[in-house]
Amino acid sequence: MEDVDLPELNDGEILLKGMYYSVDPYMRGRMNDAKSYVPPFQIDQPIQGGVVGKVAESKSGKYQTGDVVVGMLPWQKDFIATEKEARKIDTSMAPASYYLGVLGITGLTAYFGLMDIGKPKAGETVVVSGAAGAVGIAVGQIAKIQGCHVVGIAGSDEKTKLLTTEFGFDDAINYKATPDMNKAIAAACPKGVDVYFDNVGGDISDAVIKNINFHARIPLCGQISLYNSTETPMGPRLQPMLLTRSVLMQGFIITNYQARFPEGIQKLAQWIKEDKLKFTETIEHGFENLPKALLGLFNGNNTGKMIVEA
Ligand code: NDP
Repeated sequence: MEDVDLPELNDGEILLKGMYYSVDPYMRGRMNDAKSYVPPFQIDQPIQGGVVGKVAESKSGKYQTGDVVVGMLPWQKDFIATEKEARKIDTSMAPASYYLGVLGITGLTAYFGLMDIGKPKAGETVVVSGAAGAVGIAVGQIAKIQGCHVVGIAGSDEKTKLLTTEFGFDDAINYKATPDMNKAIAAACPKGVDVYFDNVGGDISDAVIKNINFHARIPLCGQISLYNSTETPMGPRLQPMLLTRSVLMQGFIITNYQARFPEGIQKLAQWIKEDKLKFTETIEHGFENLPKALLGLFNGNNTGKMIVEA
């Protein structure tokens, strides 16, 4: 933690007070000095991520003191942003922190990954891993809205119970208490798996893919079980199964869909309003707890979106 003096505001800039900070699994990848879809974090510079802040002072015609904004902003308690780096949000429609979750990147990831790549049809079986997390919990409910049989995979009995009792999942499997995942998935999906929304990779995905149907679709969203690997992990060779069953597996990065974000937000907001899409958050209090909250994602400490309230 470092204290720094902020410079005077220039024209077109705003002074923001951080309210809510998003911690996300992809941040782990930005700590590797490797070529990726975003550059690595810079040493001696604040981490950047999704932040909701309140305008404390404005030298921009677009913002007034008191406006609430969201953007990819620094992990600082107070900071200066240009008017282009922030976007005003409507806190009468949903709580401000939702713009870091269901009405932000994780909701959009669930929506476009499932609808555009998964293409679920009524009556099909959809399996989602990381099911009690921010993306997964939305994926399962959107699949239910499409009329699918939905099975979630998560890491505790509390989480699996919540998925079936509160979030409308048809079934849920606690992978930490299930010795034979292949068998458990076969039992939960008697007609096989038509869409597998993969948030975690590794052994869990190997077991799901063993149950994959002909012409199934696999949106490859995240591989959190591998983000801390220092060597390339080896697993079963699954390509022959994908080939012979004509399965589509497609990776995606949500920013691919940037031009269609307004459509996604409109759909998600409509489902929230109609009470078809529910959301939950795990909130850590205190700016100084940002690192703890980020590490907690890798231990399954969160249900729904992990947020830090300053
Ligand atoms: P989550 O809210 O799902 O938090 C992470 C969860 O992952 C934890 O709660 C934990 O739940 C689970 N987890 C952690 N370690 C493991 C492990 N070794 N094996 C299995 N599960 C594990 O995060 P998000 O919803 O924000 O992200 C979900 C996935 O989607 C991530 O992989 C992320 O990188 C990816 N993502 C991809 C995007 C894209 O553009 N492609 C955009 C946003 C997210 P549990 O208790 O169940 O283990």
